[in-house]
Amino acid sequence: MEEMTITTRSPEETMRLGEALGAVLEPGDVVLLTGDLGAGKTTFAKGVGRGLGVAEELTSPTFTLIHEHAGRIPLVHADLYRLRETGAGAADGGHLAGCLDDYLDGEAVVVIEWPEQAAGLVADALCLDIRRAPLPRVDEREFRLRATGPRSHSRLEAWVKRWLFS
Ligand code: ADP
Ligand code: MG
Repeated sequence: MEEMTITTRSPEETMRLGEALGAVLEPGDVVLLTGDLGAGKTTFAKGVGRGLGVAEELTSPTFTLIHEHAGRIPLVHADLYRLRETGAGAADGGHLAGCLDDYLDGEAVVVIEWPEQAAGLVADALCLDIRRAPLPRVDEREFRLRATGPRSHSRLEAWVKRWLFS
């Protein structure tokens, strides 16, 4: 499967799309979410939480860069925006990479917003780039999906099948 695109037309639909992914994810999977502020990364991550059976509502992490949630599979939700904003750069990025490293290949699913700061950390990840549609389609979002290795590739196939045929 090459790169592909899915369009959603409301925040609820984006959440359902995330939920469908959460339902097929397995421990150790990594999902990288890129896109501008307000693109829908956190909305999508909330859906992933639902699909993983996380009971509490995910929020946008502000001061805490990494949040851990219990679920059918534990979910680690990271938002590295603050690193980018402060230009914290290599030092903090390196420290953070160390923290995230503890979660990778582990029991949890890891979802990262603004993963640019942790570039190169994960070889095999599901990369989702979210873009707004041109005005006036204010509630429309385009998801560009890409898998960078065999693990993410097989998850991408399971997810897309689930989304298209359920
Ligand atoms: P990010 O985490 O990328 O900054 P958020 O998920 O926090 O973005 O915010 C997305 C905003 O866009 C929310 O206010 C949401 O209601 C709105 N929105 C409108 N249409 C959509 C859509 N199709 N998918 C996701 N969010 C949408
Ligand atoms: Mg966010």
